[in-house]
Amino acid sequence: MSEKDYYKILGVSRNATPEEIKKAYRRLALKYHPDRNPGDKEAEEKFKEAAEAYSVLIDPEKRRIYDRYGVSGLRGEGFTGFSGFDSSIFQEFEDILGDILGDFGFDFFGRRRRRYRPQRGRDLWLELEISLEEAYSGTTKEVTLIRTDFCPKCQGSGLKPGTRKIPCPTCGGAGEVRYHQGFFTFSRTCSHCYGTGEIIEHPCNECGGSGKIKRKDKLKVKIPPGVDNGTKLKLQGEGEVGDLYGGKGDLYITIRIKKHEIFTRKGNDLFCEREISMVKATLGGTIEVPTMEGKEKIKIPEGTQPGEVFRIKGKGMRSLGGHGKGDLYVKIKVVIPKNLSKEEKELLKNLAHLRGEDLEDEKENIFQKTKKFFN
Ligand SMILES: [Zn+2]
Ligand SMILES: [Zn+2]
Repeated sequence: MSEKDYYKILGVSRNATPEEIKKAYRRLALKYHPDRNPGDKEAEEKFKEAAEAYSVLIDPEKRRIYDRYGVSGLRGEGFTGFSGFDSSIFQEFEDILGDILGDFGFDFFGRRRRRYRPQRGRDLWLELEISLEEAYSGTTKEVTLIRTDFCPKCQGSGLKPGTRKIPCPTCGGAGEVRYHQGFFTFSRTCSHCYGTGEIIEHPCNECGGSGKIKRKDKLKVKIPPGVDNGTKLKLQGEGEVGDLYGGKGDLYITIRIKKHEIFTRKGNDLFCEREISMVKATLGGTIEVPTMEGKEKIKIPEGTQPGEVFRIKGKGMRSLGGHGKGDLYVKIKVVIPKNLSKEEKELLKNLAHLRGEDLEDEKENIFQKTKKFFN
C-alpha cells in the first residue's frame, strides 16, 4: 500500500515552515470546501485529505513522527486519519477556516457565523496490545494517557476563586462588534471575548483562565472476553473536556493481539499444529492437544495422514458479547524418524517385506509417477 504524501497533498516542500503549510492548506480548503462544490465527491475527498495533511504537518510532534515513520508511525500515536471525520474535527477546521473567511458577520458562503459556543471535547484514540490468553478470558489493563481536564482549582470556570466574569468592555456584552465600511455595515465576532460577551478579569492562577489543564491520567480499562485484533472499545466521556462545558469527548481503544506461539486465530476459531510419530499416525491412538484451557485428549484413528485436520468443537475463542465459542482445528504433522538404529531399520524392512513392498522398485515407481506428473 502506498502511503499518503502529506507534503505533496498540500503542495509544499519537505522543509516548509508552519506559515507556508497554513497558507497552502487555506488555499486548498477554500478551493475544495464542500459548500463551494456541492455534491462533488472528489472535491470533498480532496478537502478531507488536505485537512488530514494539515493536521499532521502543523503539529510539530506529529510532523516529526510522520517524517521518520510515515503514516503508520502516527498510528501508534493515537492518530487514525480521518476515516471517521467526526464533527469535532470538522469543527476544528471550520475554526481555522474562520480566519480565512474573515471576521465578517456573514461567512464567505452567506451563512450567519456562529457565535462562540460550547464545544464537546476531543475524542482520544489509543492502541492496546494484549495476549491471546487475555483476549480469551478478558482482562483489566491500566493505560496512561495525557489529556485535558478541568482545572481542579477553578473547576473549569477559569476564574480566580471568589471572583466573577464581567461584561466585555469591547463589545459591551453583545459578543459582536459592528462597524461601517462605505454603505455597508458589518459585524464581526468580538475578538476580545470571542463572542461570549464576558471576560475574566481575574484568571485562575492554576490554569491561567482557560479552566483546563493537561494532565497524565492512569485509567483501568476492562477488556471483555472475545476481543479480536482491531476490536474498538469506546469509553464514553473518557476523552478530553470541551469548551464552555460542552461535554467530554470519548476514548477509543483499538485492541492489538500479540502473535501467539501455538495458536493462530480466524474469527472465533483457533488453529494449531500437533506433531505425532509415524507409528502413532499409523496405528492411531490418543494424543494430547493444547487448548486455551490446558491440554485436552483426543482420539485419532488408524492411518491418520499428514496434514489431516481434526476439529474440536467449542474449544476456540469466546465470541465477543455472546455465549458461543469457536472451534479448535488441529492439523497433524507426522514426524518421520531420523538416525534409526540398525535394529529399527531391520524392523521397517521387515514391515515392507510383509506388505510386499520392494524398496528398490518402489523408488522407480515413484520416479516414473513423478515424471508422468511433470510431463
Ligand atoms: Zn466582547
Ligand atoms: Zn483554573
